[in-house]
Amino acid sequence: MSTCTACTDRDAGDYYLCERCFGLLEQRLLNMPDLYAELSIIPRVTGLAEVVTAAPAEARAPIDLNALDMPGNAAWTLEIRRRDIQRVRWPDRSGPAPASLMAHCRWLRMELEWIAASYPAVAELAAEVRKLESQALSILGTPPRRAQQLGSCIAVTDDAGTVCGAALRRYPGEVVRCRKCRTEYRTEADLLLLQHFQPQESA
Ligand SMILES: [Zn+2]
Ligand SMILES: [Zn+2]
Repeated sequence: MSTCTACTDRDAGDYYLCERCFGLLEQRLLNMPDLYAELSIIPRVTGLAEVVTAAPAEARAPIDLNALDMPGNAAWTLEIRRRDIQRVRWPDRSGPAPASLMAHCRWLRMELEWIAASYPAVAELAAEVRKLESQALSILGTPPRRAQQLGSCIAVTDDAGTVCGAALRRYPGEVVRCRKCRTEYRTEADLLLLQHFQPQESA
């Protein structure tokens, strides 16, 4: 039994990371290549000024011109970390060849089980990855939470077989609940039925 070296709070068992910190790190490594790909495209297309003004107010921090080379810096940060991990794991082998951010993220994800169990400085990796993500988000802005449109309610509301028909929407992660008749669509079977009985588009 040991305490997580990243959050210094939860139990990590035989690992250096608790389950939650492990999951967060894995998810961030998964998202990072897309995030930085977006970052490297947008300034060239629209100009940095427009990117900055398009970002939500709270994200409109003064722009560091280093931001323009953020993808390169991110790949370099992970390369140095990966070199250290490989030095611990395979002291006799030479380090990794220079690679893309995507390749480093993929390698780290594939080896994450070993890293969390056997690399004592994994909390530093977790902190670096978290920082890289928030740097990118401070330029791009956090994506707005958009309501998902899920068609119309299929609940039968009276003995004559009248279908409710109200538009269903929800925010990601919420239960689908009709605002008009209060029917909830909770299970996968509910959602499949909902999809199946959607009125045909007359177009
Ligand atoms: Zn933790
Ligand atoms: Zn309804």
